[in-house]
Amino acid sequence: MIIESDLKLDFKDVLIRPKRSTLQSRNDVNINRTFTFLHNQRDWTGFPLIAANMDVVGTMGMARALSRYGAMTALHKHYPADDLIAFFQSDDSGNVFYSLGITEADADKFRAVKAKAPVDKLCIDVANGYTERFVETVARMREENPDIVIMAGNVVTGDMTEALLLAGADIVKVGIGPGSVCTTRKMTGVGYPQLSAIIECADAAHGLKGQVCGDGGCTVPGDLSKAYGAGADFVMLGGMLAGHDECEGDLRHEERDGQRIPVAMTFYGMSSDTAMHKYAGGVASYRASEGKTVEVPYRGPVDGTVQEIMGGVRSMMTYIGATKLKEVPKRTTFVRVGAQLNTVFG
Ligand code: 5GP
Repeated sequence: MIIESDLKLDFKDVLIRPKRSTLQSRNDVNINRTFTFLHNQRDWTGFPLIAANMDVVGTMGMARALSRYGAMTALHKHYPADDLIAFFQSDDSGNVFYSLGITEADADKFRAVKAKAPVDKLCIDVANGYTERFVETVARMREENPDIVIMAGNVVTGDMTEALLLAGADIVKVGIGPGSVCTTRKMTGVGYPQLSAIIECADAAHGLKGQVCGDGGCTVPGDLSKAYGAGADFVMLGGMLAGHDECEGDLRHEERDGQRIPVAMTFYGMSSDTAMHKYAGGVASYRASEGKTVEVPYRGPVDGTVQEIMGGVRSMMTYIGATKLKEVPKRTTFVRVGAQLNTVFG
């Protein structure tokens, strides 16, 4: 029995220490980044935020909305092939990942879409990125698609980050168990505190000139700042983007002053009972559901939320004196805290 006794940290365990700087205002900072991807040497520039490939938030509507801010979306994998073909043939597809798992059916559907539409970014996504079969799938996808940007995950340690990059991934997705509607830690006892996972995986990836995407666990804009500070090149969000007009969750309305107004929307994990009943005809008897189904407040168009997130990141950069998002990890000093927020008003 080995116990690793180094303390591993989550977003809530740290704050970012302010630093002296000559920056005048948050308008002096640039929150866009340019990346050159490891395997195809192509460049991408934008705000490195990605909507999660969950069927409530990874929608075509979300992709159009986030793209206006230079941010990206991983479309969920349950759209019919024809809809995906039409989408990837349109002008809206520049900042969009096509998502898939590792089944033959997933690969066949992807080949059919790619034969008719230009897909240039792939998100190969499994709950557990530690299997040989997953690494082999990433390698095969790379071989078949030398020009495509491949994001693959999820893992939480440096060794698997390196293995996936060497197998053909450009971006490794990091996070096991931190998600807002994830119950993996509860059901299995498996997981890794997300801030430490990002720090360790980013270190491994950057040594090989690859990138990481911190996936899951962001609850407030400050958590994105911490993720970038820890070395995340991209940050993926599910729950923070739920409840908006661009989402495909069911709305609940209430009567107020004789009018029907939307007040809440469903949101659920992709391995929750809800998702498994919707797509797989029920929960297979050999596996437990590892996702929750919740209701989140209805929040209108996603613009307000994106602007709030971008404003938070800009402001963080002025506090630590970083003019470019790229400089943030270098200028970040985390302080460990016992409590990070004043909760007197909830
Ligand atoms: P959030 O931003 O909501 O905290 O986390 C989003 C991430 O949670 C997703 O990108 C995905 O990695 C993860 N996730 C989504 N659905 C499920 C689920 O049903 N079970 C688990 N374990 N993780 C999920």
